[in-house]
Amino acid sequence: MMRYAKPKSIDEALALLADGSWTLLAGGTDFYPAQGNRPIRDDILDLNGLRELRHISQTETHFVFGARATWTDIIRADLPPAFDALKLAAREVGSIQIQNSGTVAGNLCNASPAADGVPPLLALSAEVVLQSADGERVIGLSEFILGNRRTARSPGELLTAVRVPREAAAGTSHFVKLGARRYLVISIAMAAARVVVDDAGQLADVAVSVGACSAVATRLHALEERLRDARAAGAAAHIVKAHDFAELTPIDDVRGSAEYRRRAAREIVLRALDGALAGSGRKENVAA
Ligand SMILES: Cc1cc2nc3c(=O)[nH]c(=O)nc-3n(C[C@H](O)[C@H](O)[C@H](O)COP(=O)(O)OP(=O)(O)OC[C@H]3O[C@@H](n4cnc5c(N)ncnc54)[C@H](O)[C@@H]3O)c2cc1C
Repeated sequence: MMRYAKPKSIDEALALLADGSWTLLAGGTDFYPAQGNRPIRDDILDLNGLRELRHISQTETHFVFGARATWTDIIRADLPPAFDALKLAAREVGSIQIQNSGTVAGNLCNASPAADGVPPLLALSAEVVLQSADGERVIGLSEFILGNRRTARSPGELLTAVRVPREAAAGTSHFVKLGARRYLVISIAMAAARVVVDDAGQLADVAVSVGACSAVATRLHALEERLRDARAAGAAAHIVKAHDFAELTPIDDVRGSAEYRRRAAREIVLRALDGALAGSGRKENVAA
């Protein structure tokens, strides 16, 4: 017979997780559709009694998103412009009803290649906090998502927070999602860019990530380095080359061919960079 538990504290949740195999339930917007018409047979550990996880807060070193922070919470939060890409992604996750229930933690733990939250959080060098009865560990988001629907979370672990180091929360950012229609659509490809423009109007730092073009969304480090070296961000159209997308491994599916995705990736990266620069208010100064 299946078990259902709705703990009221993290300690209670971790004790349950240490004793048996549970399926965690947050907003349920990935979990329930995945069930299809099958009856639920898993033991369900419902996280919705954990009030302490419903927060967006700041410490001296980090911006912290509790595991129950929803997309709507993110849209409404007072955050620096570096989080604009994450807010734009939040507005693209399904409909308002989905944004009200769905959590950023659920988006990451579900590890869909098309998860819209991943590219903006990669561009912010986000980390995830995993707690278990044995203690806590923090790993980079790029180490957490291992493949299509695969993460580094052990069965006894609860993802309690997603956090962004303050030094990565600098500059301005933008997110571009390509879908078959404007709203309520699974991404064909998406891109996030974050730029830091210095007082002289030069590009001081840049982060670029692409999703839905490989099993796991990825930062384009080699491209970032070339953009950093060039410093003149307005020259991006000349710097971003087709070979920058060679490391992506897009699939052919009903939404688009691999070749289309690769080409689209270049275009949406350019648009994301453009949007991030426009947010910096210094675009005219850095134009080539
Ligand atoms: C109509 C519809 C449209 C959608 N559109 C989009 C879209 O445009 N873009 C997009 O990216 N997604 C979309 N989604 C997917 C989904 O809404 C998001 O991925 C959402 O963020 C999932 O969060 P959740 O809280 O509902 O997760 P849940 O469904 O509760 O959980 C998802 C997975 O994460 C695990 N999990 C959840 N929380 C934790 C935790 N704290 N620790 C460990 N494991 C955990 C669960 O066990 C489960 O495996 C859509 C879904 C629907 C139904």
